[in-house]
Amino acid sequence: MARLTLKFGGTSVGSPEAIAQVCQIISDQRRQGNLLAVVVSAMSGVTDQLFDAAAAAAAGDQQAYRSINAELLSRHEAVINQLVGSSAARDEALTAVRDLLRQQLELCDAVRILGEASPRITDAIVSFGERLSSRVIAIVLRERGIDALQVDSHTCIVTDNIFQAAGPLWEETEARIRRELLPAYEAGSALVITGFIGATPDGTVTTLGRGGSDFSASIFAACLDSDELHIYTDVEGVMTTDPRLDPRARVLPYVSYREIGELAFYGAKVLHPKTVQPIVNRGIPLRVRNTFNPAHEGTLIGERTRPSVTVIKAVTSIRDVSMLTVSGRGMLGVPGIAGRTFLATAQAGASILMISQSSSEQSFCFTVVDALAANVKAAVEAELRQEIQHKAIDSVDTLPDIVIITVVGSGMRGTPGVAGRVFSLLGEREINVLAIAQGSSECSISFVVSEADLERAVVELHTLALETAEIDRANGQGSHY
Ligand code: ADP
Ligand code: ASP
Ligand code: MG
Repeated sequence: MARLTLKFGGTSVGSPEAIAQVCQIISDQRRQGNLLAVVVSAMSGVTDQLFDAAAAAAAGDQQAYRSINAELLSRHEAVINQLVGSSAARDEALTAVRDLLRQQLELCDAVRILGEASPRITDAIVSFGERLSSRVIAIVLRERGIDALQVDSHTCIVTDNIFQAAGPLWEETEARIRRELLPAYEAGSALVITGFIGATPDGTVTTLGRGGSDFSASIFAACLDSDELHIYTDVEGVMTTDPRLDPRARVLPYVSYREIGELAFYGAKVLHPKTVQPIVNRGIPLRVRNTFNPAHEGTLIGERTRPSVTVIKAVTSIRDVSMLTVSGRGMLGVPGIAGRTFLATAQAGASILMISQSSSEQSFCFTVVDALAANVKAAVEAELRQEIQHKAIDSVDTLPDIVIITVVGSGMRGTPGVAGRVFSLLGEREINVLAIAQGSSECSISFVVSEADLERAVVELHTLALETAEIDRANGQGSHY
């Protein structure tokens, strides 16, 4: 008997057929006697639609948000009609869905009247996707004879009030999860829990950020002392690159916590960047696997870093970023300019994705998401106003339409010349590199290229990664890639 936390993403619960498949996986696990906490996402596309509804309401477009509400109703009704046979259970499910969607509509009406969707009310509106899917799935499971208990995670994940990117308050969260859920988990009820959502200590709904259900699942795995966390998605596992960018992408059988941290932070959408945080200290292994091919072992993520000559394990990319450069001769030897710049950036609400400084100290650059670039530039210029007036700093420039490409692999540590190979390859292919940074963990190198070069750079570097994997295999380290 194992204690498991399973998470199913949007595509995995995106249709009646997919939900039937999810229920099959859950019932197989129960039959083996395993204890189950099941964290679910909203049906695919629903969170996007809910964001659109909030925006439409703020713009006064009642017809648009009403039609989204109606679409959501019919999509969930279709699942219920197809998968719930008994009329009593069907009525229960239909009533639950209609009640939730009525509340969602009321919130949109409130936004329309106010003429503004604050981050706080937006979080309340977008939380409905998971509240709907979890209820429907729990009822379908009960229909199939599984003792399933639906749980709204805002009753137990306690967060700060950074709406749309809330962080858990660990002690309160752990205490609540153990108090509210541990007895039912240990008694063998399959808990069907909403991903994505938390609440402030006073009960206001928050969300953990886009893609945050992975993080929710990992919080539950840690607080329920799960032996393993399985994240089910729509690909076989963590791959050597995004299969949508290069169909030659292969599944990596094993990735370390540290490597997955870099991969996820630098754009591998398959896992939310915070997923490993709650489980890393407890050493809970994480498996990424495919809902639609459950026999495949997927990718195991754990503590060990296997020695290997494979230096480049995976290649990732982040789009929609801008690079800001602060430059000027007067910066030479003047301490604190970088520090003040980064503080001003944080105060403008932006996280820095990558920093690079030229050795002459006459300039440094950093990247932030496009949407915040103008605010960051204004904030940095305000902070450095005096230096700019006295010409110690020439300018703060923004370069849009760039992307960050990252190559990841712990084999890079102590392997001289990887950076050299990467950049000479890019040079041979005439891909212009605008800035470079090596991660402090030495298991990644990131660099900035123009958006137009993204596909080509990823494919070239991915070829290098696949070639080194072949050398690895020839050396008998084939399971690694
Ligand atoms: P879910 O809804 O299950 O959370 P996501 O869409 O968030 O699924 O993440 C899975 C997707 O991530 C895959 O369909 C794939 O296109 C994309 N992806 C990007 N980079 C990688 C990678 N390195 N390995 C696997 N998948 C990746
Ligand atoms: N439904 C949320 C989103 O689309 C959370 C998740 O699926 O992980 O961002
Ligand atoms: Mg996801």
